Amino acid sequence: MRFFMTLLLIGSIEARGAEWRVGAAAVDVTPALGTPMAGYYSPRGAESVHDPLFAKAIVVENEGRKIALVSLDLITTTRDLVVEARKEIERLSHIQSESVMISATHTHTGPVVASATARDVALGGSNELATRFRAELPARIAEAVRRADDRLVPAKIWAARGSESSIAFNRRYHMKDGTVGWNPGKLNPNVLKPAGTIDPEVPFVYCESLDRKPIAIYINYAVHLDNVGGTSFSADMPYTLSRMIAEFKGKDLISVFTAGCCGDVNHINTNWREVQHGHENAVRMGVILAGSVLSAWPELEAIEPARIDARSVTVELATSPIEPGDLDRARAVLAAIESKRKPAPSFLETVKAYKVMDVNDRSGKPLEVEVQTIALGEKLAFVSLPGEIFVELGLAVKQDSPFPYTIIAELANGSIGYIPSRRAYPQGNYEVVSARCAQGSGEVLVDAAVRLLKESNLKVKREAK
Ligand SMILES: [Zn+2]
Repeated sequence: MRFFMTLLLIGSIEARGAEWRVGAAAVDVTPALGTPMAGYYSPRGAESVHDPLFAKAIVVENEGRKIALVSLDLITTTRDLVVEARKEIERLSHIQSESVMISATHTHTGPVVASATARDVALGGSNELATRFRAELPARIAEAVRRADDRLVPAKIWAARGSESSIAFNRRYHMKDGTVGWNPGKLNPNVLKPAGTIDPEVPFVYCESLDRKPIAIYINYAVHLDNVGGTSFSADMPYTLSRMIAEFKGKDLISVFTAGCCGDVNHINTNWREVQHGHENAVRMGVILAGSVLSAWPELEAIEPARIDARSVTVELATSPIEPGDLDRARAVLAAIESKRKPAPSFLETVKAYKVMDVNDRSGKPLEVEVQTIALGEKLAFVSLPGEIFVELGLAVKQDSPFPYTIIAELANGSIGYIPSRRAYPQGNYEVVSARCAQGSGEVLVDAAVRLLKESNLKVKREAK
């Protein structure tokens, strides 16, 4: 092994940065009908498939260093899923764990990704179909990476950024009574103004073979994928986005979407009277986002072949405090839900009960999460963050990143649920009530990501000299 490493090193000195090689693939991971679906607080089994769910992978190589970017049409990633998938990827494709980034698009019309949490169990996550889906998933993810790896060809990589502010809205609002409201509804006269911002950036990376065959596009945008609802599997907006890009570049192109930091951002324009729900709105968003990408196409900037640098760090986050009486209350709420007792507990009581059970299970142990960066040369870097991240935290990473193109995938390499910004905690409401991590956790992740990005940028620059 040591001998092999030495050879690699010599190789990279002699022919530094000679070329990129890129491959991409998509594997259908649509579960069996009947599999419990994720996204809401009541159980529902899938009855049909509107469009298939995929594990999509892009593999990039330079001078023997290889990375894989994987996106799943799923509500989330779990840590154990990522660990198992990476192990299988390492076995099949010899790409090391720290060089594999696995994220979820957060579609609300995919299956439950079974884990041991009280909420997943209540949604049917421990039933046979959910367990089978989860058991087979690591191999399917690894298969997507293996196929992408098999297709590696000399390639060019470009990056650009579109801008789109017409389909994303901060869903927290300052209300006239001094509270902060969450999804307050259309034309609500008690709304004063949004309590947060959005990130209009649409960063994208396009890869093409040297003989100009489209290989892959990676598009990132910060908005919740929660248009469709119902009991048909669907990737939501990225389904249309992929189709639109395919109209432009052909069906052989693998179109990968990842969710930016959209913990508090969704598609609902409260100033627009019209109901925004179902495939109609998903299509509308997909067409608009494709338009933003195509508008910015002339600005594509070549990312010259250079060193690949992947690094990651484990960060400990304190759990959200539990007050005396919280646990008894949570048990009572969950018992009431299970026995369908009336009156049913309120939405926020339910959300809090699941949180309290999960936090209690940790018995004071901090949450352990991964932050990862993958740099392709000194201009383009990908960042993973482990949850549903408030948008201003993502903006803070971008602001301090030394890379002109910094692309953040949330729900990546595992998830601990909502990660609000420090200032949102005292404002309360849904995401804060739900958050398993304590106030300040988001800022700890921002610092970790920025530190990795800076180390990575220095390393890549030193290599280029
Ligand atoms: Zn969400």
